[in-house]
Amino acid sequence: MVVARDYASFSELRDEMKGSIGFVPTMGALHEGHLSLIRRAREENDHVIVSIFVNPTQFLEGEDLDKYPRREEADRKICELAGVDLLYLPTTDQIYEEDELCMGAPKIRGYILEGAKRPGHFDGMLQVVMKLLNLSRAERAYFGKKDAQQLILIQQMVRNYFMPVEIVPCEIVRDADGLALSSRNLYLDDDERRRALSLSRSLKKAAKLIQSGERKSEIIRAAMRGILEPEVTELEYVAIVDREFRPLEEVEPGNTIILVAAKVGQTRLIDNLWVR
Ligand code: AMP
Repeated sequence: MVVARDYASFSELRDEMKGSIGFVPTMGALHEGHLSLIRRAREENDHVIVSIFVNPTQFLEGEDLDKYPRREEADRKICELAGVDLLYLPTTDQIYEEDELCMGAPKIRGYILEGAKRPGHFDGMLQVVMKLLNLSRAERAYFGKKDAQQLILIQQMVRNYFMPVEIVPCEIVRDADGLALSSRNLYLDDDERRRALSLSRSLKKAAKLIQSGERKSEIIRAAMRGILEPEVTELEYVAIVDREFRPLEEVEPGNTIILVAAKVGQTRLIDNLWVR
């Protein structure tokens, strides 16, 4: 594995790669969720590029940019063992200049749910993903369904800007007890971690209700809230939407995503279920 820290050396190393490239952009503090993306990229491509960049423009004022976990040494080893060919660890000045052109998230889909709770987050996310997809010149890029709205907006960006890359959605990886893996789980103490399980439990309850024939969103959301409210510090939203992120009054199997966002202690967590 080779490591690049600036665009000039990254680009040179990228030029040497022949054959297909699978790209996995991350913010580091790598866990099994990231690894599942890397493994899939490894299987489906001749070369794998991973980037680790904690992108300042997708953090809002007062969010956890400064304390976001940074574990460069451990991450490097994980990438090496996973068979990554090129690891890009850019500094902010390698990615941004003053007074840039800016990406704007779509006005509806980009400003509901996560976009409503974190206005501007998706603009910054799309900005950096556009840059990273362009500089990687990858055939395929791998993103987790864990960040469902992010994934759908990236697919839209690629479609709207005719970008020559295939976006590959990857399943959510969970701990044995159901907690969706996230770099932010590192913030949770034991009690918070236990309470955080209410997110995946509420989604399991939703799945069970749907399996038993329930379709009414309001009934499913009420059952989920009943599980979440006693446990979480602040329930931000429970939403049932279609794959275009339009609210659904009735679940449509195959076309429905159920999403939850909540704070447990100071830590903001999200989870979701793609209903089959
Ligand atoms: P992050 O480092 O949080 O920006 O995540 C980098 C990529 O890993 C994104 O595409 C995430 O959706 C994906 N990811 C994060 N957690 C998981 C998980 N538990 N399962 C699958 N993919 C994940």
